[in-house]
Amino acid sequence: MPKFFVDPHIIFVVLDRYYNFMSKQKTNEFRSPRGTHDILPEEERLWDKIRQEAKEISGFYGFGRIDTPHFEHTELFTLGTGSVTDIVTKQMYSFRTRGGDQLTLRPEGTPPIMRAFFEHGMFNLPQPVKLYYIGQFFRHESPQRGRFREFNQWGLELIGEDSPVADAQVIQIFFVFLREVGVKNAILEVNSTGCQICRPRYRSELVAYYRPRLKGLCKDCKDRSRQNPLRLLDCKEEKCQIVRRGAPETLDHLCDNCKNHLKLLLEFLDEVSIPYLLNPYLVRGLDYYTRTVFEIFVGEEEKEKPKEVSVDSQKRGEENPVKEENEAPPESLTSKRLALGGGGRYDNLAEILGGKTVPAVGGALGIERIILALKAQGYKVSEPAKPKTFFVQLGELARKKSLPLIEELRKARVSVAESLGRDSIKSQLNIADKVGAEYALILGQKEALDGTIILREMSSGIQEAVPQEKFIDFLKKKLKK
Ligand SMILES: [Zn+2]
Ligand SMILES: [Zn+2]
Repeated sequence: MPKFFVDPHIIFVVLDRYYNFMSKQKTNEFRSPRGTHDILPEEERLWDKIRQEAKEISGFYGFGRIDTPHFEHTELFTLGTGSVTDIVTKQMYSFRTRGGDQLTLRPEGTPPIMRAFFEHGMFNLPQPVKLYYIGQFFRHESPQRGRFREFNQWGLELIGEDSPVADAQVIQIFFVFLREVGVKNAILEVNSTGCQICRPRYRSELVAYYRPRLKGLCKDCKDRSRQNPLRLLDCKEEKCQIVRRGAPETLDHLCDNCKNHLKLLLEFLDEVSIPYLLNPYLVRGLDYYTRTVFEIFVGEEEKEKPKEVSVDSQKRGEENPVKEENEAPPESLTSKRLALGGGGRYDNLAEILGGKTVPAVGGALGIERIILALKAQGYKVSEPAKPKTFFVQLGELARKKSLPLIEELRKARVSVAESLGRDSIKSQLNIADKVGAEYALILGQKEALDGTIILREMSSGIQEAVPQEKFIDFLKKKLKK
């Protein structure tokens, strides 16, 4: 058997790798992937407030919560969202599983909910079926202020109702929510994209208008003119907007039913005093929209421009910017407008996914956007509530006894902070002072042995010893005062 020698070179390489690895750890090399973000505890308080408000309002208006998986069969989106939309052609995170399934991280909520609607026979329930969701969605987009690759949305879907009152109610709920959480100056843009009867006519007129003008358009628009001509209208390139000026408008081509639907919707919106702007160029790029489409914006005040959020696109260099379609148009991110979300009616989606005609309307707000708007408008995150008490322990026995005593406080709903790893009574009292506790509960060796505990009023320094079995009642009385 040959003798085994370790080549010194190998030792060097191994050590070198090890040091590299360790230094990476030290220099904090790992960061969250581009376009994603962490939500830290302080920020979570605002998130909780927003989620809570969304849940309450959804619940009040009769929407039941639904959670669908974070990934679905890719075909659900190519069929539902539409194979020529930007979402499907450019933005999906798709992968093949070991079992050979082709799956996609959900880029939006509506097709999965329509799938669930059929899968669980919800068409047999009294209609309409009202569902809401709060969760994460994924799109490979170029990150910008307020735009992430993993983002959170609160969405509403009202399925099985064709009256414009449903469209109005979805929009109203979003506005009620924005008012309740404190977003100021929200404005609605609304349009009708027609139906299966009037849209084809409009579409061919639009194509006829653009055909001799294709030369003057950007590359994307040249593709759109073949695949998705309605989207020619919402291009943000200046040269395309110039051509657009003479283009036929949807509003002039609506059939009587669509016209009436829009007219009624606007009347409902007037009734609840929602400020709106009819935007004839608003189409939202998704295949499934029929009639109503809408987006909600806020204007930002110049003085209170928010600091850049943690999307470090400049630092890492832009990679091929992708035009956004379902969220904010890019202009809203460079100008003083911020898109909070949008939605519309999707009377054809059910037929595509389930073979049945079921009219529906829905929409979603981006939670990151809402938070950005709140901060831009000077909203301050509230301070966490101060603990009423602080538990101070001294000595090994007291430290052991502290765990069950703290649990008694939790059961009695008396808030308590502690620093159980610390030994010094002085440093523990310092922290009690810092966190603003009203009472320190002190357990030393003597108290641990004789079953008492000392209550110390932090403001006066007055202390008294109380039997452990009575200290909760005693404390509650004191705290009431
Ligand atoms: Zn129509
Ligand atoms: Zn264009």
